[in-house]
Amino acid sequence: MNTTTQPAAATSSEFSRLPLPPHALENLQRLGYTSMTPIQAASLPLALAGHDLIAQAKTGSGKTAAFALALLANLNVRRFAVQALVLCPTRELAEQVTQEVRRLAAAEDHIKVLTLCGGSTMRPQLASLEHGAHIVVGTPGRLMDHLERGSLNLEALNTLVLDEADRMLDMGFFDDIATIAKQCPKQRQTLLFSATYPEGIAKISAAFMREPKEVKLLAAHAPSKIRQLFFEVSESERLHAVSLLLNHYRPVSTLAFCNTKQQCRDLVQVLRAQGFAALELHGELEQRERDQVMVQFANRSCSVLVATDIAARGLDIAQLEAVINVDITPDAATHTHRIGRTGRVDEEGWAWSLVSMDEMGSVGKIEQAGGFSSAWKKLSELTSTSKEPLRPPMQTIQILGGRKEKIRAGDVLGALTKDLGFAGAQIGKINVNEFSTYVAVERGIAAEVLRKLAGGKVKGRSVKVRLMEGGEGGAERQP
Ligand code: ADP
Ligand code: MG
Repeated sequence: MNTTTQPAAATSSEFSRLPLPPHALENLQRLGYTSMTPIQAASLPLALAGHDLIAQAKTGSGKTAAFALALLANLNVRRFAVQALVLCPTRELAEQVTQEVRRLAAAEDHIKVLTLCGGSTMRPQLASLEHGAHIVVGTPGRLMDHLERGSLNLEALNTLVLDEADRMLDMGFFDDIATIAKQCPKQRQTLLFSATYPEGIAKISAAFMREPKEVKLLAAHAPSKIRQLFFEVSESERLHAVSLLLNHYRPVSTLAFCNTKQQCRDLVQVLRAQGFAALELHGELEQRERDQVMVQFANRSCSVLVATDIAARGLDIAQLEAVINVDITPDAATHTHRIGRTGRVDEEGWAWSLVSMDEMGSVGKIEQAGGFSSAWKKLSELTSTSKEPLRPPMQTIQILGGRKEKIRAGDVLGALTKDLGFAGAQIGKINVNEFSTYVAVERGIAAEVLRKLAGGKVKGRSVKVRLMEGGEGGAERQP
């Protein structure tokens, strides 16, 4: 894959340097788009040259126009068939994208853009599809419905866009995206836009893209950065030091490494007794239990995941504010591996290491291998920075029913937003497993969601639901 990391001002940012027809340039002027934003300047030349593209830039950077101008350039207006499909994670985003595409398409008459999302009745959508459209913007769930019914035909498609791909992955849409991509002609251009770059993106690109060019606009002031701090502890202070760190820095998600299983167990007990939401990942968990631990940690309804190096192998967590080396590892490479899990993409991350006198030799090895000298702070400098206990922002609701029951993320989102009236922004990750679905919701609405879901329906069926504890206080209740 080719990566172009473009400094913001490296290229001319005039739209007129692009191979766009005069009427398109005039329209951009009319819209007040006097020059390209950096992501547009970096991605439009590649997209207009026909390349597949992975583009990453933060929210509000003008990504919509970057793909909209490309898909419009591929459009043959006289051919009245769906030639471009834009997948968006939510109805609100799909509607925003539709509006922007319409504004950019205004240069030419008669370009028809259609939005297909859940939460709207089917019949008008079917009627609109019968009338035909050049461009369809929609959410994966509803698009799947139309493909299954045969009401959406993608034979003439030449551009597939995945907008906010990271958010779609978060919401569990990978399988739906795969199914939709498979129904698109092989000869097509695929454009993927994302604000962050979780590992699932590589999976998408390997599966559905052809030699994509990669454009990343790193915020100039925030390179991926891990801030390491070392703390000297006595053995009796060690476990308590973890809660001092949590109360001082208040990270949303923390991965805590111990060298032994026993230490993991002890730490989880201490943290829970102090009211933190902590879960342990260890080798003896059944697959189902392991999944539940991972789901709750990754969707931000558990503050601390405690693990040994072996148990943490292969973990893929996109957002991690902090790593704590509860026990410092004697192996320098393992240390690098542990702390590399934080500070990904453009995020900053903390790595705190607790070190006893006996372990100072390990720190020496780590400094040598890493070519840095360690920064130290005293436990006594840590103070509780808020009166509120540190609580995870989300809570997880388990729905007993998953892929086996043909439940899809879109169905759950639809039930919560359309049927039950919650806002899309209050809903976090949705994980659909074989037999269970896990949906993260804002802490403040969890009880209400639970009550309404218990009395409501998902995909026309009533469902059993329960609130998961995310490792909060006391013993975990059994499902
Ligand atoms: P993103 O998808 O990266 O979050 P949007 O595509 O929603 O960002 O664009 C953010 C805002 O910037 C929109 O209001 C859009 O109309 C505006 N915008 C996009 N490109 C330009 C440009 N070249 N000049 C001025 N405004 C622009
Ligand atoms: Mg966008």
